[in-house]
Amino acid sequence: MRIYDIIDKKRRGLELSQEEIEFFIKGYMDESIADYQASSLLMAICINSMTKEETYYLTKAMIESGDTVDLSEFGSLTVDKHSTGGVGDKTTMIVAPIVASLGCKVAKMSGRGLGFTGGTVDKLESIDGYKSTLSADDFLSQVRSTNISVIGQSGNLTPADKKLYALRDVTATIESIPLIASSIMSKKIAAGSKNIVLDVKYGNGAFMKTAQDAKALALAMIDIGRSFGRNVRALITNMNAPLGHFVGNTLEVYEAISVLSGKGERNLTEICKALATEMVSLGLGVSQVNAQDMVNDAITSGKALKKMKEWIAYQGGDVSVFDSPDKLLSAKHKREIIASKDGYISDLPAINIGLASAALGAGRTKKEDSIDPYAGIELSISYGSYVKAGDVIGYMYSSSKSGFESARELITYSTSEKECEPLTLIYEIL
Ligand code: URA
Repeated sequence: MRIYDIIDKKRRGLELSQEEIEFFIKGYMDESIADYQASSLLMAICINSMTKEETYYLTKAMIESGDTVDLSEFGSLTVDKHSTGGVGDKTTMIVAPIVASLGCKVAKMSGRGLGFTGGTVDKLESIDGYKSTLSADDFLSQVRSTNISVIGQSGNLTPADKKLYALRDVTATIESIPLIASSIMSKKIAAGSKNIVLDVKYGNGAFMKTAQDAKALALAMIDIGRSFGRNVRALITNMNAPLGHFVGNTLEVYEAISVLSGKGERNLTEICKALATEMVSLGLGVSQVNAQDMVNDAITSGKALKKMKEWIAYQGGDVSVFDSPDKLLSAKHKREIIASKDGYISDLPAINIGLASAALGAGRTKKEDSIDPYAGIELSISYGSYVKAGDVIGYMYSSSKSGFESARELITYSTSEKECEPLTLIYEIL
């Protein structure tokens, strides 16, 4: 077999066999296939796409390039979730303790933020003392005793995806549904949970710009998951406006605690409840109606908040923030955000808020960059709110004054004289 022929076959739009796909992944990992050859094949895939079977074999080969996590001791109780990323997306910190408090097992590996999107691990590590690296034994034993552990992507899981993703990132080959779907699902399947709920976002603050593209990606991921014997559901959700009122690391921990205390912003709370409902329904094998009641009760009874505190304490985090959440809003410098014009907010682009938060120090432009855990943005407005020029509509937080000017320029909104139609939050559940 020659990689030249495989590239040529895909260039002509033909279907690759399982053997050809395995040859590519093995050869790329042992360096008998060069970066320029892999890039060429990836570009041919971007242009000519892949069939369902090819996508499955690619996912399988990437999973088999490394280790997998064995969660079989927990039977069908294991639930995982994946969000395709957005601005202010702190849903993992909220839904994971909700579902764990109801008996599901959450053994979760999460990622770090890059560009204008945040990462759950950065948010958790912004709590003093939180350890996001645990040995495999400690990770599993924590899940046994508390139902929940959330750590960074560790060990040798899907190394082929890691290497290919880095190449795709610099060769304009990210944007391909089979490549994105296989990349995400290889990591989820290797991480071992039986049940997976996907939050596939669309809009200016998301990877996928339209609901239709997000749906196509979700369907490809559902297909892959089911081929590996996993139960998968997907929510297609709106990321045209930031999720919740807070963006930034400690700020989002603050907001997660608010939601679990029953005082969360409406849209964020609704998406979290919808995600948790699907996770509980799959993990415990109950109807969505029953799962929804259980989720509501976990919040109103305080059970989910108690579980979050137990989880953070178990991983070494400073739980005094649960008694004094204001500690999480204590950046050295704070500036008001003032409304520039009157009207109903008809557009509050999530991407700009994400970029502004990164400019304040909350995000990274390169993987190696460090972040300012206390930096970020608090907004008291959301899509549809009425504002008057001169009103204080939020605050910027940072440990350094240097980002305030550029952040302020990025925080823009449009207004309308008439009330806006409510934003469709959840476009579809698949
Ligand atoms: N996230 C991933 O993990 N992989 C992709 O290809 C795109 C987004």
